[in-house]
Amino acid sequence: MERRRFLLFLAAGLAGAAVGRGTAGLVDPEQAPLTPAAAAEPAAPAVLAPAPPTGVVDALPGDGTSLALTIDDGTDSEVVAAFCRFAQDAGVRLTFFPNGSYRSWEENGELLQPLIDSGQVAMGNHTWSHPDVTTLGDDQVAEEIGRNRDWLAQTFGVRTPFFRPPFGSHDERTDRIAADAGHPTIVLWNGTFGDSRPVSGEELVAAAQRWFAAQSIVVGHANQPAVTTVYDQLLALISERGLRTVTLADVWPVGLSRVQRVPGSARTA
Ligand SMILES: [Zn+2]
Repeated sequence: MERRRFLLFLAAGLAGAAVGRGTAGLVDPEQAPLTPAAAAEPAAPAVLAPAPPTGVVDALPGDGTSLALTIDDGTDSEVVAAFCRFAQDAGVRLTFFPNGSYRSWEENGELLQPLIDSGQVAMGNHTWSHPDVTTLGDDQVAEEIGRNRDWLAQTFGVRTPFFRPPFGSHDERTDRIAADAGHPTIVLWNGTFGDSRPVSGEELVAAAQRWFAAQSIVVGHANQPAVTTVYDQLLALISERGLRTVTLADVWPVGLSRVQRVPGSARTA
């Protein structure tokens, strides 16, 4: 097994088992001699925290009281602003999956960047313009994902392992293209605000009551103002149920890295 595959093997969540049993049997010493450095390198972070998994996730791993609120799209700049203020005021941890084609994210760059820099907000890739990627050819899928990845790096200085396919529509082919573009973890969800159609605040709270649960990944959208009217109720529910919000990068921090932001790119692109 070549070294890169060996690292991926460890990163795939098998590190604990591999470390426990010793790694000698996992590699062919003729093909890939394990230097002490090579042996130590993958094991150290893997023991401290699980690497972002390769493949599909729709819930948080293990037992706990974590709740991952993941907010997509960003068609409404006011709603993106309100989510940022919500995070700022209430200390809620959020993961955004923006489409770079919506100007709302750059328009709220001054609110958003400090939250990203502190780690309170994590980012994932949701494609540049929100197509159903299963309907596109390989090159178009790669372009949609790659353009948004580069926009995230240039605008906010982040590189992310997380990809959420628009509409949750994906297959093995699109998963592979996402992985090749640097996003091995395909993030779906097991709870929802139900706000991919027009909803009232009341309906959103009802959805939250149904879906806010330990180790859940809940999807919502920064598209309609209704959610901005029920933040207090959402906070009360989180508190009543003894949950704590986490970003996906809190759960799977390895592989999330910062890149040099291009100064001013957010405002001029
Ligand atoms: Zn979406």
